[in-house]
Amino acid sequence: MPKSNFFTRHLRDINESYFVHMRHALGFARESLIAFCCFFIHSILPFIFLTAGNSTARKLLNRINFRTKLINLSTANEKHVAIVGFGLSGLVTFFNLVKNHQADSGKLVVRIFEKSSVLLKGTAYSTKSPNHLLNVPANRMGVVEEDQEHFFKWLCLKGYNYQKTDFVPRQIFGIYLEDLLQIALKISDEKNISYEFRSKEISEITVRENYFWIDGDLHHSCILAVGPQLKDSKKSFWRNDLESYLADEEIHILGCGLTAIDTVVSLRDRKYSGKIFLHSRRGILSQPHKIFDFTEKVDSPLNPEDSDLPLSQIFRKFINACKKSSDWRIAFDAFRPRTQKFWMVLDVEKKKRFMRHCFRLWNVHRHRCPESQFKIVEEMMKSGQLRIQKGRVSDGKVIDCTGFDYGFESELISNLVKNNLVKFDELHAGLIPQHENIFFTAGLNFGSLFEITSAPDIAPHCKKISDKINKLDPSSFLR
Ligand SMILES: Cc1cc2nc3c(=O)[nH]c(=O)nc-3n(C[C@H](O)[C@H](O)[C@H](O)COP(=O)(O)OP(=O)(O)OC[C@H]3O[C@@H](n4cnc5c(N)ncnc54)[C@H](O)[C@@H]3O)c2cc1C
Repeated sequence: MPKSNFFTRHLRDINESYFVHMRHALGFARESLIAFCCFFIHSILPFIFLTAGNSTARKLLNRINFRTKLINLSTANEKHVAIVGFGLSGLVTFFNLVKNHQADSGKLVVRIFEKSSVLLKGTAYSTKSPNHLLNVPANRMGVVEEDQEHFFKWLCLKGYNYQKTDFVPRQIFGIYLEDLLQIALKISDEKNISYEFRSKEISEITVRENYFWIDGDLHHSCILAVGPQLKDSKKSFWRNDLESYLADEEIHILGCGLTAIDTVVSLRDRKYSGKIFLHSRRGILSQPHKIFDFTEKVDSPLNPEDSDLPLSQIFRKFINACKKSSDWRIAFDAFRPRTQKFWMVLDVEKKKRFMRHCFRLWNVHRHRCPESQFKIVEEMMKSGQLRIQKGRVSDGKVIDCTGFDYGFESELISNLVKNNLVKFDELHAGLIPQHENIFFTAGLNFGSLFEITSAPDIAPHCKKISDKINKLDPSSFLR
């Protein structure tokens, strides 16, 4: 390394050449001069340059602030990572980031931005009802260390009395997530990783000098973990006060899926005695789970190579496999490990047709409901209190339980599209990154991965993201 003398020491400290440094310093000098002139003239002629001096000075301060942060970041051996949204997927990514961080790759600094006052739990796990159950058995809800039984082991450790195949209240899973956060923070402290939580809704992310500029700070990498948006969120069960419906003689619910079943369970818990109508286009309720002992060996009904077949043949092959299995659920579960790969190679036109014609049918069979919840619904149907109605309901007082909008356009996402950091996929059902260091978790990848909305699929994907970020070399950002 060449020796630095008095003349070059500062340039070496900030890692800049003489002329780059000169360009920036002269830029600041020019703006200071403009601000000086505006203030000077304004002091003599107070009716002109009413705001120009202030706004130039403010711009100058912002530029100095940005330059200082840029110099600090490019001269420190640090990797700055932003996580926007801190529900399940934000937490799992954070957990893997800190757990697998190697001290020799520099200091890790993580900033976490979350708009809600409730961290970790998102819509799914912040439910107040102990009768809202996970729809995945306990032994498959583990989200760390590539150990699907992690959650079940945690349940045993904490003294909860559940079996591996039980469907545990989602509230308890929320407590598990809180515990994971504590473990992640402990690991961070042990490894001297810096973390900062900011209670903030992020609406804009820009790229400046190849870093992500978020809430006044620069980051090498950014993880969007904002989750998808509930459809018609004003009428959504999760955003609505159920109490305001209880005096009504009839309650109309849009949708027949898992959220509709959660709503029915909540109405029963509140001793609602009026009539309940579930409305959906096909009138098919989410199907119940059945727990099997998996001695039956079943091949996946479809493989990626089958994606070249016409959609009608793909459909037939799948249906035949369901019919041949001792229970159709076994065929669905056998396909599960291949679903992402199959979807990824499927032609866009076929994907669009599938979404139009088969998606709802797929959903009610694939996203199944715990048997105990299904029984509640069956009993209410038998007693005549609950009816399923095929077809659309005219607008009125309804509770929207139609699920997620995967192609939603929040202010943040619109700005990301505008700033060319992301684009919508061909189905407009998820995002595609347009920058190598921006990553999306979970349902934001719905259009490209399809099977990515529940914990057993979200967790390994988050791990992959954190592995990529852990491999990122901050020195490759140096100008
Ligand atoms: C009702 C329900 C039940 C479910 N049950 C199960 C189940 O039993 N098993 C299963 O495997 N999966 C289940 N899922 C699916 C999945 O596990 C959850 O949806 C999971 O919480 C998704 O995690 P996420 O991090 O993508 O989104 P979320 O958990 O929704 O977290 C996103 C976070 O980002 C924050 N945020 C959003 N925008 C911004 C912004 N601009 N700035 C800052 N913060 C922002 C939000 O406040 C939120 O905290 C369920 C989903 C729902 C909705």
